[in-house]
Amino acid sequence: MTPVDKSAVVKALREMSSYLQLRGENMFKTRAYDVAADRIAGLSDDLGQLVAEGKLTSLPGIGESIGQKISEYVTTGHLSALEDLKKEYPPRILELLEVQDLGPKKAKALFEQLGVGSLDDLEKACQKQQVRALKGFGLKTEEKLLAGIALARRQQSAGSRKRLGDVLPIATELLAWVQAAPGVKRASLGGSVRRMKETVADADIIASAPDAAKVFAHFERHPKVAAVIASGESKSSIRLTELDLQVDLRVLPDEDFASALHHFTGSKAHHIHLRSLAQERGYTISEWGVHRLGAAAGAKQEKGTARHEAAEEKLPIKEEKDLYALLDMEYVPPELREDWGEIEAAQKHQLPRRLVTAEDLAGNVHAHSTWSDGRDSLEAMARAAKALGLEYLTVTEHSQTSGYAGGLSVERLKAQWEEIDRLNETLKGITLLKGVESDLLEDGSLDYPDSVLAQLDVVIGSIHQRYSQDEDAMTRRVLNAFDNPHLHIWGHPTGRLLLKREPAPLRMEEILDKAAKKGIAIEVNGCPERMDLAPEYVRQALQRGLKLVISTDAHSVGELATHLPFAVAAARRGWATKADVLNALPARDFVKRLQRV
Ligand SMILES: [Zn+2]
Ligand SMILES: [Zn+2]
Repeated sequence: MTPVDKSAVVKALREMSSYLQLRGENMFKTRAYDVAADRIAGLSDDLGQLVAEGKLTSLPGIGESIGQKISEYVTTGHLSALEDLKKEYPPRILELLEVQDLGPKKAKALFEQLGVGSLDDLEKACQKQQVRALKGFGLKTEEKLLAGIALARRQQSAGSRKRLGDVLPIATELLAWVQAAPGVKRASLGGSVRRMKETVADADIIASAPDAAKVFAHFERHPKVAAVIASGESKSSIRLTELDLQVDLRVLPDEDFASALHHFTGSKAHHIHLRSLAQERGYTISEWGVHRLGAAAGAKQEKGTARHEAAEEKLPIKEEKDLYALLDMEYVPPELREDWGEIEAAQKHQLPRRLVTAEDLAGNVHAHSTWSDGRDSLEAMARAAKALGLEYLTVTEHSQTSGYAGGLSVERLKAQWEEIDRLNETLKGITLLKGVESDLLEDGSLDYPDSVLAQLDVVIGSIHQRYSQDEDAMTRRVLNAFDNPHLHIWGHPTGRLLLKREPAPLRMEEILDKAAKKGIAIEVNGCPERMDLAPEYVRQALQRGLKLVISTDAHSVGELATHLPFAVAAARRGWATKADVLNALPARDFVKRLQRV
């Protein structure tokens, strides 16, 4: 049985309370849902079990009616009472209740009298001065509401980080749309999306064109735009129907493009450090470009000319690398711009010569087919890998303990070898390597006898169950696994699921030390929910001389391609080069380097 998602139950109960308040239900009724939500949130017992045993109402604060609703939600995934309420209102009406000074009564009046159904609607109504005309509102309230909207937006964006894996495809789609706008010369993604950070708050696009207004008009016409939040002279912000994602577009003259792109790529920490270096040399760096504080400053200022116009000489920055060159530094790729030592390294010309790219890879590591929980046949996976120009694909199904994921028994594993042999004979230009993704069992032992493991080309060991172990037990589990000479690769090492599950508690330095001693390769897993290992650990691994495998963990033909950029990005953010990556090697060398016995 899958565990019950308590937070979803809590959210549903709170929404029930909010909708009932909007409807004007009495406080005792609505409070009951909040009390129940608190109760479930703080519950240490297994909710699924309480429901199964019909013991919900034994909890203080949960009565018959709410108990039934919780059971309904837990068992069916639906709450019909909530779904009915939602039908009565626009989909984003509850945003109104997040605005300070806006209680349910006022929200109800705004909806019923002005049709206000979202923050964006409310803002427009305030701007059109419609709100002040309502009974019980007035000018003061209108002003307060506008301030409250701004605050609510800030809170929304802080609390609503999204996975890069969800944002990147749509941001790329928007970028292509902008590139096709009238007059656009250059355009690029910016912000944390360009730095390929695992989670992002919003998306940024920077473009150059002679007439910004035309580009904004085109941008705001994209079919996925839900609302235009702000449209100014050099910036337009929209909210998309997908992911509720905010996208900011800045359009500048082409001569300002590179410095603006640099500015809006971040990170803040990288910029602060750069700006102090620039200052020492008599430059200023800002979103308006790089300026030299000129000697003519004094004379001009006497005449009362604004310092910005007269005292500073604007320096031409055609490309981002010109900006770094001005500071006698190597160009710093966006993925490294975190002030994690990249500035010092760039000053000493000691950045990695060239970070690894997808094109460097000869083989795709970590793939599942219909033999375990993949969606496509082995043959389809092999043909797709070949079509991607790869030389080999490692077949690594789940192991026997992962019964829920179709893990293979020894017999099934051996049966798969026959299919692999047959495919290797018939398919030209692609080699399937025999492997497995073995569970690391509770004590760190692998999921097959050594005699079986010894016959495999590629053995990945991953933790899939018992995430509740404490740091000692979890660390020991991994350290023990490394003692098995048949283990080659530590798979999705920390087990984190972005925005969902924290990394397992592990003493990472101790583990990486042992991996280095034992010659275990470290996986950088490109599943967009994982992007595991995190960049700081990739770097620690590389500093110990460990080798990486850049893997897709593909469960379908499509994922062979779509997961790859996230694995490559995670490796690049950890400063990896081609030489650090084992699956950049041809098949024979790859297998040879993995073997430890
Ligand atoms: Zn796995
Ligand atoms: Zn896997």
